[in-house]
Amino acid sequence: MSQVLVLVDHVDGAVRKTTTELLTVAARLGEPAAVFLGQGYDNAAATLAEYGAATVYQVEAEGLDDYLVAPKAEALAAVVRQAGEVAAVLVASSGENKEIAGRLAVKLDSGLITDAVDVQAGAEGPVTTQSVFAAAFTVTASVTKGVPVITVKPNSAEPVAVAGVTPNVVTVPVTVSDAAKTARVVERRPKEKSGRPELTEAAVVVSGGRGTNGDFSPVESFADALGGAVGASRAAVDAGWYPHSSQVGQTGKQVSPTLYVASGISGAIQHRAGMQTSKTIVAVNKDPEAPIFELVDFGVVGDLFTVLPQATEEVLKRK
Ligand code: FAD
Repeated sequence: MSQVLVLVDHVDGAVRKTTTELLTVAARLGEPAAVFLGQGYDNAAATLAEYGAATVYQVEAEGLDDYLVAPKAEALAAVVRQAGEVAAVLVASSGENKEIAGRLAVKLDSGLITDAVDVQAGAEGPVTTQSVFAAAFTVTASVTKGVPVITVKPNSAEPVAVAGVTPNVVTVPVTVSDAAKTARVVERRPKEKSGRPELTEAAVVVSGGRGTNGDFSPVESFADALGGAVGASRAAVDAGWYPHSSQVGQTGKQVSPTLYVASGISGAIQHRAGMQTSKTIVAVNKDPEAPIFELVDFGVVGDLFTVLPQATEEVLKRK
């Protein structure tokens, strides 16, 4: 069976959920294999085994963490060449990873598909689903040349643990070329921890808009009750009520959680562009004619300052 390589997303070996999702997707397409770049492999080994990585390629390379994406693309290309028959390379969609994926596809002279929301096995290779133009169209696509390189949005699959897998660990020595050392990392500053999950990876996102009138406390309390992340519309961000890093939409982040709650958000096309692929969408808006109600699974016509605290109380009662 051909291998399906998954680039491991991690921080010092703490594996992100996106990687466990991709290992689950990989199992549909062939034999899952993980590619671990950087420091901290010992912390990652158990999780990669738990989610079914039959092989783990552990890249040893000087300078991998000292420079931006180019060395990582080089290292990944070296693994693909060493691995033999590779059915696809899967990478979680993030700014950095999409750049790695693009560079990798050029190196392999193969096709690239970005931001897939689903990947299934097809007769001639992986078949992807993308949601484009503010989710106005669903596109089904396959790579027709070379090893398919596919970036997959977070929350596109539910991770499934696999019992009894002991990965074959293969060490791949890579010498990063001078040509790849073009942008050096000068400083890394960890983001202040909010205790909430990362917006793009969260299974639940509760967002607030202009309707909050600057008071995000009911939005935050509901998000915390559900263990979710907090998002914001551009109107709320432009007003200075919430940081731009929390903006959802065309010019903000793309999220695809299991549950998205839009509160005090009208549902402009640019906002939809960032959240319309969410599995279940709920809106709280006091205007029954608000366009957001056109795309919701559940809508509550009401004041968010009444509805969200009640919903929070109800969720906390059931915990
Ligand atoms: P509004 O449209 O003003 O809606 C507020 C809603 O709150 C209304 O529906 C109102 O009925 C409701 N409301 C008011 N009070 C309450 C209450 N107490 N309880 C319940 N409901 C209440 N927008 C984004 O969000 N993300 C983007 O990335 C983005 N990119 C853009 C890019 C471009 C090039 C452009 C032109 C625009 C972009 N926008 C983006 C802006 C977008 O067009 C909208 O202006 C914005 O999404 C509106 O934000 P909102 O829904 O919070 O505000």
